[in-house]
Amino acid sequence: MSFDPASFRAQFPIFAAPTPGPALHYLDSGASAQTPRHVIEAFAHHDATARANVKRGVHRLAEAATEAYETARLAAARYLNAPSPREIVFTGGTTGAINLVASSFGALMAKGDEVLLSVLEHHSNIVPWQLLQARRGIVLKVIPATVDGRLDLDRLDGLVGPRTRLVAVTHCSNVTGALTDLGRVVAAAAAVGAKVLVDGAQRAPHGPVDVQALGVDFYAFSGHKAFGPNGIGVLWGRAPLLDAMPPFMGGGEMISHVSFAGSSWAPIPNKFEAGTPPIAPAVGLGTALDWLAGLDWSAILAHELRLTGRILDGVARLPGSRILGPAGLQQRLGVVSFALDGLHPHDVCQLVDATHGVALRGGHHCAQPLMESCGLVGTVRASLAPYNDDGDIDALLDGLAAAVRQLRA
Ligand code: PLP
Repeated sequence: MSFDPASFRAQFPIFAAPTPGPALHYLDSGASAQTPRHVIEAFAHHDATARANVKRGVHRLAEAATEAYETARLAAARYLNAPSPREIVFTGGTTGAINLVASSFGALMAKGDEVLLSVLEHHSNIVPWQLLQARRGIVLKVIPATVDGRLDLDRLDGLVGPRTRLVAVTHCSNVTGALTDLGRVVAAAAAVGAKVLVDGAQRAPHGPVDVQALGVDFYAFSGHKAFGPNGIGVLWGRAPLLDAMPPFMGGGEMISHVSFAGSSWAPIPNKFEAGTPPIAPAVGLGTALDWLAGLDWSAILAHELRLTGRILDGVARLPGSRILGPAGLQQRLGVVSFALDGLHPHDVCQLVDATHGVALRGGHHCAQPLMESCGLVGTVRASLAPYNDDGDIDALLDGLAAAVRQLRA
């Protein structure tokens, strides 16, 4: 297999869509990736040909919709190498998945039990645990970051202990792009009998994941960052854990029997999928995951890292720039955040968009604890996907140089 960025890019209608102003250079895939034509078509085709509710009707459309939905679950299980599709719960996204675990796995925790997070976490892997802390009196501990924006895993042994129930960390930081050495996290957690939850929002879009090889217990990611639709996400959890956890939400289709004397729950995964799920989005996501699984990821990652190297070099040459995260290309993905002395990230992003058509993200990236630990209110962030090319990086670096000149004039 090989990788041709131009033909890959041609699969995405957004790049041919008419746009006011300069041509689009989309460097915000860490926030939401663009969607290829065939995924949009799969989503629309489902609603055009098999729209009905799932898991309940017996007419042919209901059966077709249920089959399509369960086929998507199989695709998610394959993508994560989950031992069984029963372990795949469709959620609204990474946020929904982590809130589910915080609520339902958290319900099994007692006052004084500990959850270990890291300073690199997105707010979606911080705030649900703070809500649990308020409800159940658990204790939150935090792994600090190294100077190059990685989890400081040398601190792990001192932070886990007999009360640690869960270590919940990101697979790839949405600010620094650093990949986490999950092997060390799993070993430290196993030593004290704790479970490991991984926020895979930034990693899952960059090729299949093997949850069995990683040895983790929960894995969460979002469809919209993985070239799929909005409103759908995946939680994978080991069956014995999911079986032991109480439901997250109550409603239709998550029950075995309901009476006013009490109710009982459906087996997993239905126990965690109350109400009508996002059906067409699941179909779209399944299509996206099967397609992602068939790509040549070693060629794609080489392409993305070459572009990442160009961004790192170009930004380092800007006067007064500071890159948050690894300066090199080892153990990282194509997410580059940087501050520009004296300039607000929003001003930079608006100007670079207006003058050069470059879509960037500026702000705290839902990672305020990390920003505070770096003494910053925010950064500019460029995040890559395989459809990016040298033209995007040229536009970014020209746009940044022009913005710096104009804003500092
Ligand atoms: N975790 C990380 C690392 C993220 O980058 C994001 C989104 O930016 C999330 C969680 C939340 O994802 P969502 O808003 O799709 O639930």
